[in-house]
Amino acid sequence: MDVKKEKGPESLDFKGFHLSRVGSVGYRGFMPGIFCSRELTEGIDGGPESVRARLGELLPDNRIVCLRQVHSDRIVTVDDAPFEGFPEADGVVSADPSTVLCIRTADCVPVLLWDEVLQVSGALHAGWRGLALGIVAKGLDLMRSMGCRDIHVGLGPAIGPCCYTVGPEVVRALGTEPSTSSTGSLSVDLHAVALRQVTAFGVDPSRIHVLRSCTCCTASYFSYRRDGPAAGRNLSLIGGDACSLPGLPAL
Ligand SMILES: [Zn+2]
Repeated sequence: MDVKKEKGPESLDFKGFHLSRVGSVGYRGFMPGIFCSRELTEGIDGGPESVRARLGELLPDNRIVCLRQVHSDRIVTVDDAPFEGFPEADGVVSADPSTVLCIRTADCVPVLLWDEVLQVSGALHAGWRGLALGIVAKGLDLMRSMGCRDIHVGLGPAIGPCCYTVGPEVVRALGTEPSTSSTGSLSVDLHAVALRQVTAFGVDPSRIHVLRSCTCCTASYFSYRRDGPAAGRNLSLIGGDACSLPGLPAL
């Protein structure tokens, strides 16, 4: 099924997923998930307990999985994730489209995954440490082991190379080519690193969707680099009724 041919003002149903349009210019088609701006979590801390409590109020009919994110490459399947707890992991995959998977970020790359045929979805938290450990490739591999062959990948708002100055250890860990400013500071492009893992895995380019907004220089997102340790968290959600929540306006 070619989702690009689907009409619909902002949403449509597809293989049991509710799909939400989160962009149009340079952003092909529709996706069954949503990258939220800060309005959803304004006024609460970004911890998994607070975020799940807020989502529970907004999505009372859905099971919601939030992770205790630790910048690892650990990915749990939804069966491993007790819904009363918060698995220590940076990725979650589910074969149950009624379950909402939630990733919290404040500069790292949120990654949403879904298959075009099977009702399998995933969500990953990919900061530089997770990317260096190959978490995006591992998430894709896990979905493939569950039978997925037509995987879509959505990369959400993250700190851009415009703002992400780093030390040489980060450049080394990522094995990427940094940009160098006139003052000699180095910066890296996390989206580009994530994309490298996606394309190396063989995901069809028509199934790769990138929202390149920079969290640090866009006021509608929380940013750790800009706001410091007290920064709230941006949410990226897939599954259930997640798309009924307020998210990004179309680009
Ligand atoms: Zn920026």
